[in-house]
Amino acid sequence: MAGFPTSARVVIIGGGAVGASSLYHLAKAGWTDCVLLEKNELTAGSTWHAAGNVPTFSSSWSIMNMQRYSAELYRGLGAAVDYPMNYHVTGSVRLGHSKERLQEFKRVVGMGRYQGMDLNILGPDEIKSRYPFLETHDLTGALYDPYDGDIDPAQLTQALAKGARQMGARIERFCPATGVRREGDEWVVETPKGEIRCEIVVNAAGYYAREVAKMFGRDLPMMVMSHQYMLFDTIPELESWSKAAGAKLPLLRDVDSSYYLRQEKYGFNLGPYEGNCRAHWATPDDPMPEDFSFQLFPDDLERLEWHINDAMARVPLLAQANLTKVINGPIPYTPDGNPLIGPMPGVPNAFEACVFTFGICQAGGAGKVLAEWVTEGATEWDMWSCDPRRFTGFEDEDYCVKKGMEVYGHEYAIHFPHHAWPEGRGKKLSAVHDRVAAMGAQFGPYNGWERALWYARPGDDTSEDAQRTWDREGPWFGAVREECLAVRDACGILDLPGFSRFRVTGAGVVAWLSAQITGKVPGVGRLGLAYFADEKGRIVTEMSVARLGEDDVLLITAATAQMHDKEWLLSTLPAGLALVDETEGWSTQILTGPLARDVLVAAGAEADLGKGWLTWQEGRIAGRGVFLMRVSFAGELGWEIHSRVADTAAVFDAAMAAGRPLGLRPFGMFALNSLRVEKGYRAWKGDLSTDYTVLQGGLERFVDWGKEFRGKAALAAEKQRGVTKRFVTLTVEAGDCDPPYMSTLWHDGAVVGETTSGYFGHRVGKVVALGMLRADLAAPGTAVEVEIFGERFPAVVCEDQPLWDAKNERLRA
Ligand SMILES: Cc1cc2nc3c(=O)[nH]c(=O)nc-3n(C[C@H](O)[C@H](O)[C@H](O)COP(=O)(O)OP(=O)(O)OC[C@H]3O[C@@H](n4cnc5c(N)ncnc54)[C@H](O)[C@@H]3O)c2cc1C
Repeated sequence: MAGFPTSARVVIIGGGAVGASSLYHLAKAGWTDCVLLEKNELTAGSTWHAAGNVPTFSSSWSIMNMQRYSAELYRGLGAAVDYPMNYHVTGSVRLGHSKERLQEFKRVVGMGRYQGMDLNILGPDEIKSRYPFLETHDLTGALYDPYDGDIDPAQLTQALAKGARQMGARIERFCPATGVRREGDEWVVETPKGEIRCEIVVNAAGYYAREVAKMFGRDLPMMVMSHQYMLFDTIPELESWSKAAGAKLPLLRDVDSSYYLRQEKYGFNLGPYEGNCRAHWATPDDPMPEDFSFQLFPDDLERLEWHINDAMARVPLLAQANLTKVINGPIPYTPDGNPLIGPMPGVPNAFEACVFTFGICQAGGAGKVLAEWVTEGATEWDMWSCDPRRFTGFEDEDYCVKKGMEVYGHEYAIHFPHHAWPEGRGKKLSAVHDRVAAMGAQFGPYNGWERALWYARPGDDTSEDAQRTWDREGPWFGAVREECLAVRDACGILDLPGFSRFRVTGAGVVAWLSAQITGKVPGVGRLGLAYFADEKGRIVTEMSVARLGEDDVLLITAATAQMHDKEWLLSTLPAGLALVDETEGWSTQILTGPLARDVLVAAGAEADLGKGWLTWQEGRIAGRGVFLMRVSFAGELGWEIHSRVADTAAVFDAAMAAGRPLGLRPFGMFALNSLRVEKGYRAWKGDLSTDYTVLQGGLERFVDWGKEFRGKAALAAEKQRGVTKRFVTLTVEAGDCDPPYMSTLWHDGAVVGETTSGYFGHRVGKVVALGMLRADLAAPGTAVEVEIFGERFPAVVCEDQPLWDAKNERLRA
């Protein structure tokens, strides 16, 4: 064996399933000069004691992609690296207790089919044919996943490690990374055995990730839960059934009761996600130990009692078994429960692949994604759901603990489109928060900012329970309709704190920006929408650009995009230009509707209100300086009023006081969603993502072929080849529910595309879907079908223009 490596291209810190998979995938991509450091033995963190379940199920498209890839990889891995593994593909049965749960399952069946998987729904009387020992009287159905199963996590890790070593990568065990420092363009990773110089470092340190992140000066948003499963010994009846059937029972998940039950030899493994759960290492009297390798927490069965009883009632066979062992181990959580995979925010040449809650079933896919980030700077699938930059720094300890516990306690919960989870709220409040709250605002968080989703009227049901539906109509529906119609007929005001704002100045700013965006940089005094593509021509982000001066631009982008977009801009910013993040200092109101101008006049606005669409100006309202931008995401005459936070309340009060007699009313994000889909306006990380190119996204009118820009070569080649799928607006004769993200589109019995947004358009009185359709079907008038929760509904492709105000006359009024 060669001596300790003093240099490498990549150093991975952490040798659990995820670190090993990252090393394996880097080596597979040809990056074999990589070293993995593990402070103890491989698997010493969470991996050694994981139950090893490998589901493909997810209601997130990208997470399903990762898990599907893992399952595929694991099926062939043992043979590929000559390391036989215990991987049982038993299938799984996921029980449904409600109509809503079955709807969730049906949606996942549709997504799974689109990913090439044949998941299916079992009626209540079919469940027993898959799982004989079950009480089914209170079930509405089940989801059967034939790809589900369980793997030995230690063997998986060793197999990945072996495969990586065979390709030339190295693993140093009992070798902790104790520090890192930057020297020129290199990282120096310090260990007790010596230093390693490298280009790139990856934090794959599992539940220690926060400690490792501190070496880079980063405060990583995570916390640690304790999670238990129980092993029960042999049950003779199960043994004889299993031997006769020559099979194991499928994995059972009673998701509404929040546990899984797996056959383990001829006994069971029961693993609950209990509501009365326990965070660890979150208080001063419970500090995180420096080393917890191969250790467990003491058993805590009391917390699980309800679930044990429930499982015994569901599978009475379980009551015959003796409990033999409890495993209670640390499991890390980010505030939204998804892992961190991607660039380490604010740190050059450093990446994260850590804080995995389901790191066994995701390790395969995560390794692929991480390796793509490292070797190509981009991923095949849009992976925003796992991108570390989705957290922006406001996530303090208290927030992380509360959200982590909330996610854990609702690990199997359904995520409904009109529901806002209650923990960790109120982190960032608008200057007029109390005012809009008094008007009935029902809030939801956007990058920590509380924004009104809708305004409840007296008597409207504002309970959390009422939000738990897939149906279009809930307590908000009537109110949202009134809000939309006020915007159509008079005027609405949307308080929109937290827009991300970057001011970039310096000689050459226009040339730099022009090389980054597909379209033209607007002239001084004007505004425009700008699209940023990657080298493959895929949509990275969209920003509004206000040209403030010759060498002065203001870029405005989504609240959640703050960290992502800032890093994207900084990654190419030349030395002579300055970028200032002005997000915290400013706030925004959207004032829009045919009477918006009258409202501004009545409010005594000092500004040239005759200035046209896509212009900006400085003005004054209530004696306060404001930026008025003549745009409206709602698609009516309107202005974005940008004011300093200290001035926002005065501006809002003046607009409200002057506007009320004219019919002005506040509106929320649900109404905005309804209004924007009618205009075909795309939302970031739904309609606009790296899953699509700028041309597929129907954004060619924002492409200036006469100049050079990032992604141009790829887009030009795509144009020449012919674009294979196209962005379309559809009207849908839907049933009770609007089509959720990634509902499949059908034509002639085949899947031909997918929706990226779907909502009821109150101005047009129709369900509107935005989506991607096979290019040859994108002609206006083409009839297709949209699969919504398992049922197909007729839809028609609309003209390639907004459904509402097709010629933008109202916008330009
Ligand atoms: C009881 C229980 C059951 C579970 N069951 C499942 C399941 O069925 N399916 C599933 O998908 N997931 C399951 N999980 C979750 C799963 O265990 C984790 O998500 C997964 O193991 C995470 O793998 P990892 O490689 O990211 O982290 P880890 O396995 O924690 O690996 C991180 C490694 O980094 C090393 N390290 C830390 N700091 C340093 C340093 N400074 N230098 C060098 N090395 C360092 C650690 O020693 C450790 O080995 C379960 C978890 C628990 C607690």
